[in-house]
Amino acid sequence: MIQDTLAFKVSKTNNSKLSQVDWENLPFGKVFSDHMLVMEYADGKWQTPEIMPFENLSMHPATSALHYGQSIFEGMKANRMVNGDIQIFRPEMNAKRFIESCERMCMPVIPEELFVELVRKTVEFDADWVPNREGYSLYIRPFLIATDEFVGIRPSETYKFIIFTCPVGAYYSQPVNVKVEEHYTRAASGGVGRAKTAGNYAASLFPAKLAQEKGFHQLLWTDAKEHKYIEESGTMNICFVIDGKLITPSEDEDTILRGVTKRSVVDLAKKWGIPVEERKVTVEEIVDAARNGKLQDAFGAGTAATIAHVAKLGFRDEIFELPSIESRDFSNKIKTYLDDLKAGKIADEFGWCFKV
Ligand SMILES: *Cc1c(COP(=O)(O)O)cnc(C)c1O
Repeated sequence: MIQDTLAFKVSKTNNSKLSQVDWENLPFGKVFSDHMLVMEYADGKWQTPEIMPFENLSMHPATSALHYGQSIFEGMKANRMVNGDIQIFRPEMNAKRFIESCERMCMPVIPEELFVELVRKTVEFDADWVPNREGYSLYIRPFLIATDEFVGIRPSETYKFIIFTCPVGAYYSQPVNVKVEEHYTRAASGGVGRAKTAGNYAASLFPAKLAQEKGFHQLLWTDAKEHKYIEESGTMNICFVIDGKLITPSEDEDTILRGVTKRSVVDLAKKWGIPVEERKVTVEEIVDAARNGKLQDAFGAGTAATIAHVAKLGFRDEIFELPSIESRDFSNKIKTYLDDLKAGKIADEFGWCFKV
């Protein structure tokens, strides 16, 4: 077992910032816990991981990741349970996805068990930073960057893997307005859409900015070839409910990020006897359903927000108002279930929660 044998270097801060946190006004992703984990890759292997005080990195200006984008990340959350214990939601799924991202971007793989143990150790070390308040959690950001000091295009030979954490409150307090994007694209078949790699997010900023200028929060991405099929929304997977059926774009497409939250939504729907269709979803059928008042629900699924209800759907010059949030029985039930599960208020029937 990795637990028994894994060597760590540890240096503890003597200047904790915990007492300075303003819990009432906690902005998402701007407050950082005391420590971070750093593990270097050199000479063809992973070096001893080190937990150290959270601090700036010093980098050579030619650091490969900054120029050529070999940079991938993950996002997950640790929660304080009502009994005071800490658990992480399905981290092995993030570990598996991280491996896929590594492979696609020609980066050295971190074995699943090692990844999960490094995450566990990082959270355990800053356990005091896992908030003890309803709706709050500790966001965990593992990432991997190429560190060769070199101008030229080839896979780096050295890397830095880092995990830091942020105490956070609720992500979206309000439902979101989304617009169907028919020109710009997030990902094309054969590209890197399935990898959680930095450039995907940079590429989405400009189209998202244009949508924001029109009063939308996010885009509903469509396929790059025909703009006929719906793929994702912003950095969340998208789900619809029509005629009591859960409909969501199939992840067989390599343009869609395989989300842990979406997978959990689908698993729950199946368990609860709700019909699920994972398939190609056309813009046309969703717009038609919205126009005819048959679109009962639309929501984004992702770690940061868990469930983000769509309030308004924009398509070309039309804007459709979706049913009231209170009427969204399925997504409200999912949200409550996942919140309660993470808080340890209900039994973990699927074995999704990983104890720290
Ligand atoms: C991270 C991410 C998601 C959501 O994945 P989760 O594992 O549920 O957090 C969906 N789409 C994109 C593009 C993402 O980057």
